[in-house]
Amino acid sequence: MAEVIFSKIGIIGGGISGLAAAKELAQYEPVVLEATDSIGGVWKHCSFRTTKLQTPRCDYEFSDFPWPLRDNSSFPSYAEILDYLSSYATHFDLFKFIKFNSRVTQIRLATDQPHDKPLWEVAAVQTINGSTLVQSAIDLALECAQANQGEEGKSCTMVVRTSHWIVPHYSIWGLPFYLFYSTRFSQFLHQRPNQGALRNLLCLLLSPARKATSKLIESYLLWKLPLVKYGLKPDHPFEEDYASCQMAILPDTFFSEADKGKINFKRASSWWFSEGGVEFDDNTKLEADLVILATGYDGKKKIRDVLPQPFCSFLEFPSSGGMMPLYRGTINPYIPNMAFMGYVESVSNLHTSEIRCKWLARLIGGKFKLPSMEKMVEQIQTEAEIMKKTTRFYKRTCISTFSINHSDEICQEMGWTSWRKKTWLAEAFSPYNSRDYQQQDTAAN
Ligand SMILES: Cc1cc2nc3c(=O)[nH]c(=O)nc-3n(C[C@H](O)[C@H](O)[C@H](O)COP(=O)(O)OP(=O)(O)OC[C@H]3O[C@@H](n4cnc5c(N)ncnc54)[C@H](O)[C@@H]3O)c2cc1C
Repeated sequence: MAEVIFSKIGIIGGGISGLAAAKELAQYEPVVLEATDSIGGVWKHCSFRTTKLQTPRCDYEFSDFPWPLRDNSSFPSYAEILDYLSSYATHFDLFKFIKFNSRVTQIRLATDQPHDKPLWEVAAVQTINGSTLVQSAIDLALECAQANQGEEGKSCTMVVRTSHWIVPHYSIWGLPFYLFYSTRFSQFLHQRPNQGALRNLLCLLLSPARKATSKLIESYLLWKLPLVKYGLKPDHPFEEDYASCQMAILPDTFFSEADKGKINFKRASSWWFSEGGVEFDDNTKLEADLVILATGYDGKKKIRDVLPQPFCSFLEFPSSGGMMPLYRGTINPYIPNMAFMGYVESVSNLHTSEIRCKWLARLIGGKFKLPSMEKMVEQIQTEAEIMKKTTRFYKRTCISTFSINHSDEICQEMGWTSWRKKTWLAEAFSPYNSRDYQQQDTAAN
């Protein structure tokens, strides 16, 4: 006989987004259904030996739970991240909400509920093992090279369709990287949703400054890294990668392994399996013992698999260009009583998820109301338009060039002050991160 649990809030997944949601909604005693036997999501199940955080640790931090050594400039390993998440879950007593090994297989609307009070029924099955996804081709190629040292060791070939900009560290010509995109001043140069005619004009006039910033970063990367030597110089500006959250941090010894011949590169727009390996559209072949598909994944598919019609068909709008249409990156206007976390990307996905969980908790607590459906759709379309204008790689919702503005709007809706620094100088030139959005002890909470 299946166990039936009644809960006001059901959370699917115990990754960063699920944990942040459970903490912010703890007063409702949520039930967290996690398919695997542990918390951490990708950090537990999509990591390998050398997987590290790519974001500076002070940016990938819950607003009210600092890293033990937050000023340490090294990037934590996946094991350190898992420790941090486990401490967070223990500190806020979240484990009691989590049902492990519970994979959600179906969600449906209960039919016996009044139309204006829809209730979801969630079916979950007991699971033993989760599957592992691979991303992060750069890290994998390096691991292959490291495992194949010595005369006998064979090389690994990275097949690249579109070359993206890679960054060796968060410093460009001696300047901290945040100065270019993560301060209010730097984001002032960029287009943002709902800007008036004056700002449109200003953005047009400021476009040479945006291009110059992008060129400055490209010049550094081309000087620092052998991108031209290996045919890896991207054909598009750096800004487009940043605006689509495609920027990757390069592991230290990546190009030294390439120089030793342990990593080769092959540019190809299409390939197929052939006898003993793969074949490319320029009629060349590559012999391979093992082919790893590090081609990313479709986050929407997971939802499509469990959500019934007609809701499934609302996961994309004709005008959203593949992006999940979500108001404030959280609410689909056509799907009642359901919120989506972790579908908006930025420089720190932890921060983008956490601030939305705070927003959601206040929405559920009745501190503010959602605007009309038309207004939500309009806002979603405006954001999609900005992304389409900024980058050709706009398949995922990435707000990195206007993230501060996005948080401003969320703060305004929650009744929080949106300008959160102590001085004007800091407001203009210091970067924004989760710490700036700590809980305010006011009635507005
Ligand atoms: C290798 C790697 C490196 C990364 N580096 C960075 C970085 O440096 N900076 C950054 O900001 N972001 C980075 N990311 C992005 C990362 O995905 C996010 O930062 C964040 O961890 C995502 O958390 P999440 O909870 O939204 O999703 P996930 O971590 O994917 O968690 C989803 C959880 O839901 C569970 N689940 C899924 N389907 C079901 C179901 N049907 N029923 C029950 N449970 C289910 C899964 O088991 C999983 O535990 C990286 C990702 C990878 C893979």
